Amino acid sequence: MNIPQTSYPRVVIIGGGFGGVALAKKLAKQEMQVVLLDKHNYHTFQPLLYQVSTGGLEPDSIAYPIRKILSKYPNFYFRLANVETVDAAENTIHTDIGPLKYNYLVLATGSSTNFFGNKEIEANSMIMKTVPEALNLRSLILENFEEALLTDSIDRQDALMNFVIVGAGPTGVELAGALAEIKRGILPKDYPDLDTRRAQINIVQSGDMILKGMSSQASKKAEDYLEELGVNIWKNTRVTGYDGDLVTTNTDLNFNTATLIWAAGVKGETVKGIDAKDCITFSNRFKVNNFNKVEGYDTIFAIGDVACMTSEAYPHGHPMVAQVAIQQGKHLGENLVNFIEANKSMKPFTYKDKGTMATVGRNKAVVDMPKYKFQGMFAWFVWMFVHLFFLIGFRNRVVVFTNWVYNYIRFDREARLIIRPYKKQRAALLRELDNKPKDIEMS
Ligand SMILES: Cc1cc2nc3c(=O)[nH]c(=O)nc-3n(C[C@H](O)[C@H](O)[C@H](O)COP(=O)(O)OP(=O)(O)OC[C@H]3O[C@@H](n4cnc5c(N)ncnc54)[C@H](O)[C@@H]3O)c2cc1C
Repeated sequence: MNIPQTSYPRVVIIGGGFGGVALAKKLAKQEMQVVLLDKHNYHTFQPLLYQVSTGGLEPDSIAYPIRKILSKYPNFYFRLANVETVDAAENTIHTDIGPLKYNYLVLATGSSTNFFGNKEIEANSMIMKTVPEALNLRSLILENFEEALLTDSIDRQDALMNFVIVGAGPTGVELAGALAEIKRGILPKDYPDLDTRRAQINIVQSGDMILKGMSSQASKKAEDYLEELGVNIWKNTRVTGYDGDLVTTNTDLNFNTATLIWAAGVKGETVKGIDAKDCITFSNRFKVNNFNKVEGYDTIFAIGDVACMTSEAYPHGHPMVAQVAIQQGKHLGENLVNFIEANKSMKPFTYKDKGTMATVGRNKAVVDMPKYKFQGMFAWFVWMFVHLFFLIGFRNRVVVFTNWVYNYIRFDREARLIIRPYKKQRAALLRELDNKPKDIEMS
C-alpha cells in the first residue's frame, strides 16, 4: 500500500463517513500514524441525498474529497480501497489493493440497505445510500416521464407516473415531499403535453405512525404536510413483493408502478473476519462495550452505524444517525490519544441527543429537540441551518445555500438532468446476466 514504516503506532480506520472522519481529525494531529481506507475517495453527506435524487442539488455539493479534509496532517494517509477481511490474529486487514498491518483498527463502515431477505424486492427496487444510487434514481424519475410522454397506453403511463416509497422514516418522508413538490411546480411546465396531474406519490409504512422515532406531535404534523402536498399515505401496510411492475402488500392494496423506492431499513455494513458468533447483533451491527471496543477483541473498535452499544437508555443500541457516529468518532479519538500516548484509562461514551428533524418541503419541517418541539417555517429554517453547518467544505456550504435560495425564489430544481441513463444501464446489465448461462453452455 506504500505506507511508510514509522515508530508511531498505526491506527487504521475503515470508512470515511461521519464517524471515520471525526475520528481521523482527532488522531491525525497526534504522534501516531493514521491510515484511512474507503472504497470511495469522497465523504458523502447522506442526509441530502434525496435532494440529489430529485434534482434540487448537484451531487458534487454533498460529497467532499477525503484527502482534502485531512490534507494538512503529515501523519495521515488515505488509500482508496475496499476492505475485504480482517485477520485479527495477525493484526492485518486484507483489501483489494493488498494487506495492511495495524496496531489499532477502527471499523467505521456505516450501514447498507436492509431488504429483510426479500430478494425480489432487492432486485427490482431503487435505493438511495450512495451518490451513484441517488443519481440512478434521479435518472429513472426523469426517464419515466420521458417514456410516459411517448406511450399510448394509459396503464403504462400511470405506472410510469406512479411512485411508491416504502418506509416513512425521515428519508421516505423527505423524498415523498420533494416528489410531490416536483409534481406541483415542475412537471406541468416541463411536460405540458402530458397529464401529470395523474402522477401519484405513495408512501407505505408498516406501523401506525410516520417518522416513528420522533414525537407524536411531529409525526402528526408531517402527515398533515404530506396530505396537503397530495401524497397518499398507507399505514399499517407491509410491502411483500415487487416484480418490477406490481407491488404487493399484506393487505388488498396493490400498486402498478415502474418505480418502487425502498427506504424501509438499514443494517450494519460489517466486515468479514470478525467472529460473528458472539459480536453481531440482530441489526447486523458489531456489539461494542462503552469504549467502542468490539466484544472479544483488544485492539479492534467500531463506531457509528456499524456499532451496537447498548445501555439502559438504548437497549437496542443507539439510533443509526450522523450525530451518534460523529460523537463516537470524537470520543474514541480522545480515548485513543489518552490511552496510546499517556497510558490513561478510557472514559465511557455517553450519547448527547441533540434532537431529530425532518423536512417535508418548502416551509414545512418538524423538529424535536430535547426541550422544545416545533414545526413549520421556523423548523424549516432550523433544518436548513443545521444541515449547512454539518456539511463538510466551505464551497459546498456556499453552493448548497445558493441553490436553496435560488430554488426557493424560483420554485425550481434545475439539476433535473439524465447524465447517466439508468434504464439503459439496467437493460445492459440484465442482457449480460441473460447471456451468462448461454456462454457457459457454449464453452
Ligand atoms: C438517505 C439517507 C438520509 C439520512 N438522513 C439522515 C439525517 O437526516 N440525519 C441523520 O442524523 N442521519 C441521517 N442518515 C443516517 C446517517 O447518514 C448515518 O447514520 C451516518 O452516515 C453514519 O455514519 P458512519 O460514519 O457510521 O457511516 P457512513 O457515513 O455511512 O460511512 C461509512 C463509510 O465506510 C465506507 N465503507 C463501507 N464499507 C467499506 C469497506 N469494506 N471498505 C472500504 N470502505 C468501506 C463507505 O464507503 C462510507 O464512506 C441518513 C442516511 C441516509 C442513507
